[in-house]
Amino acid sequence: MRELTDRIKTIGDKHPRPRNPKEYISTWIEKDVLDEEIVDAFVLILRTRGCAWALKSGCSMCGYLNDAQKKKVEEKDLLLQFENAMKQYSNEKIVKIYTSGSFFDEEEVPKNVQDKILKKLAEKSKKIIVETRPEFVTRKGLEGIENLEVALGLESANDFVLENSINKGFKLKDYIKAASILKDLGIGVKTYLLVKPPFLSEREAILDAVNSAKTVADYTQTISFNPVNVQRFTLVEKLWRNGEYRTPWLWSVVEVLRQSRTLKGLRIMSSPTAGGTKKGPFNCGKCDKEVLKAIEEFSLTQDISYLDAPDCECKNLWEDILNIECFTKTQGDLLKLI
Ligand code: SF4
Ligand SMILES: [Zn+2]
Repeated sequence: MRELTDRIKTIGDKHPRPRNPKEYISTWIEKDVLDEEIVDAFVLILRTRGCAWALKSGCSMCGYLNDAQKKKVEEKDLLLQFENAMKQYSNEKIVKIYTSGSFFDEEEVPKNVQDKILKKLAEKSKKIIVETRPEFVTRKGLEGIENLEVALGLESANDFVLENSINKGFKLKDYIKAASILKDLGIGVKTYLLVKPPFLSEREAILDAVNSAKTVADYTQTISFNPVNVQRFTLVEKLWRNGEYRTPWLWSVVEVLRQSRTLKGLRIMSSPTAGGTKKGPFNCGKCDKEVLKAIEEFSLTQDISYLDAPDCECKNLWEDILNIECFTKTQGDLLKLI
């Protein structure tokens, strides 16, 4: 949809810059699972020129370009970022290396740098996770890489939602092509799916996320549901400021996890960003912490009983909203309109 693509580009063009190309964006440690064991994972975000798609237009909810350089970052600077970031590394078993774009896009991370980073991490860690758009997955560059998992941000398996709500710039078939190459090479696949992209009601969003999980089940080992959060200089932020978008209820995230849990052999998880705040998924405020904890515990253990435990009077309200919002013409916060 040309109009949506152009509108997102106009909003994204306003973000601040420049940044220092010698400085990585961030590192932190988080919990993850390796061979059924809960372990520490080292996360490193490199500063690159930014996502190729974001530079052309971008996804409706993504503000990653805010941290990017927009100009190509030199090989030596990327290697310096990596070297400095690795000073924070203390032998965590998993290393996740993200670029706020695509690790396999050679305009972001030249092949030589990709190879050096992967070689170094293969010596030090038990598992490496990188993220990329599907068009950068090619058989040639990936043969012989061990202990690798590739994260693909599909967001939705519905092409209409991909085009008209997310402005993803690729279709389900592109994801399937990339995931099939990875599967053939014995490389693990992690798939990100969104909960409540813009222009979907709360109920439609639950359905879309669950149906998407069913569609990708044969192509992935892990599904990570990302409830949409409001990032700066995005279409979602504009809609949110106009009262035309409410981030998903945490109950919706619980429901999506619960329904997707029946997909056998997959690891289902969610690590909501900005959970419990107005810019992330939230409930009534009283139960948010408890529900977020339940989501975290379930994600690590896959034990469904964690999702059954929390209860709150706002759950009835959420159910009412699922039933009445189809009579309204807004995806904004109905509670503010009543
Ligand atoms: S969500 Fe991913 S593909 Fe979309 S603009 Fe952001 S970094 Fe690029
Ligand atoms: Zn509550």
